[in-house]
Amino acid sequence: MQRILVTGGAGFLGSHLCERLIQRGYDVLCVDNFFTGTKANIFHLLAHPYFELLRHDVTFPLYVEVDRIFNLACPASPVHYQRDPVQTTKTSVHGAINMLGLAKRIKARILQASTSEVYGDPEVHPQTEDYWGRVNPIGPRSCYDEGKRCAETLFFDYHRQHNLDIKVARIFNTYGPRMHPNDGRVVSNFVVQALRGEDITIFGDGQQTRSFCYVDDMIEALLRLMDSDKDFTGPVNLGNPQEVTMLELAEKILKLVGGKAKITFRPLPKDDPKQRKPDITLARVKLGWAPQVELEDGLRETIGYFKRLLKS
Ligand code: NAD
Ligand code: UDP
Ligand code: UDP
Repeated sequence: MQRILVTGGAGFLGSHLCERLIQRGYDVLCVDNFFTGTKANIFHLLAHPYFELLRHDVTFPLYVEVDRIFNLACPASPVHYQRDPVQTTKTSVHGAINMLGLAKRIKARILQASTSEVYGDPEVHPQTEDYWGRVNPIGPRSCYDEGKRCAETLFFDYHRQHNLDIKVARIFNTYGPRMHPNDGRVVSNFVVQALRGEDITIFGDGQQTRSFCYVDDMIEALLRLMDSDKDFTGPVNLGNPQEVTMLELAEKILKLVGGKAKITFRPLPKDDPKQRKPDITLARVKLGWAPQVELEDGLRETIGYFKRLLKS
């Protein structure tokens, strides 16, 4: 039986990944320091004989024996990663070094959850993997963006220098059940605000765009990438190319939730990217993957989840 380590396994994406790995018959070790993740996300897995939870911060060395590593540990929402920016960089960089050192010692394949943020505020649209990005190195988002860029550098240097078996996924905005209600990202904010009848907070004029991928599609992509041929390292864009403005997103969510919530406008945070949309040609060709879930269907599932959560 293959043993799989998932760092950040108690978070939004990590908990869905652990669940799918358990369903597929793997032995799963979930490592998390609960900075943004919660036990509630993985509570249903705790009694499973092949699921193990370890409270650990990846900025410290970790000595375990596994066959494969998914490195997801890192806060992903701007509100959370900016709360302790030094710790964010440490998690991305020291965390990557430790997990790469671990992978090197035990000769395990290792996948990095990188991000579309490596493209910064992009001049190339849609973004392709060969675009080097436009990132501010000293702004409030830099701890995350540059941390993730440095982690990619480390992955490719360990690959070249130590022949490590690596996979790098550039994940674009992903949403779905188990996002934290106070996560701060746009989908959870808008849905929770709409359900509570509070003002929907659009930052800026709402004309900036994002492309949202439903969590089930993303997990399928991560699993396919992990299983892909050894010579395919990525980086590969994973995301849904359907692009929407934040105003359109707010209107869609308001329509689906109903009720009386109104839209209000707040200042745009510094360095907020104006547009973002993945070119997923490479993922289609190399992984035979494309997202299946329409935005409205994914939003309905997400709204259902938050409705149940807010009632309990
Ligand atoms: P999340 O905040 O829900 O999950 C991150 C998890 O990592 C949490 O459980 C947190 O407690 C844990 N963690 C943070 N610092 C840690 C540390 N030092 N040691 C151990 N655990 C630590 O976020 P998510 O959306 O599930 O994101 C998971 C990964 O995917 C992140 O690496 C993120 O950068 C990447 N990603 C996510 C998205 C997205 O839209 N969800 C987009 C791009 C990239
Ligand atoms: N490391 C770890 N677990 C291991 C092996 C290494 O956490 O099983 C950490 C170790 O603390 C080191 C880092 O990974 O700081 C990088 O390891 P590597 O072997 O690449 O570098 P070195 O130990 O030579 O600095
Ligand atoms: N945003 C917004 N209202 C909110 C939260 C976010 O208008 O309550 C905007 C934010 O300024 C950005 C977009 O929505 O333009 C996506 O933000 P998120 O934090 O979800 O992800 P990221 O900026 O990292 O893509």
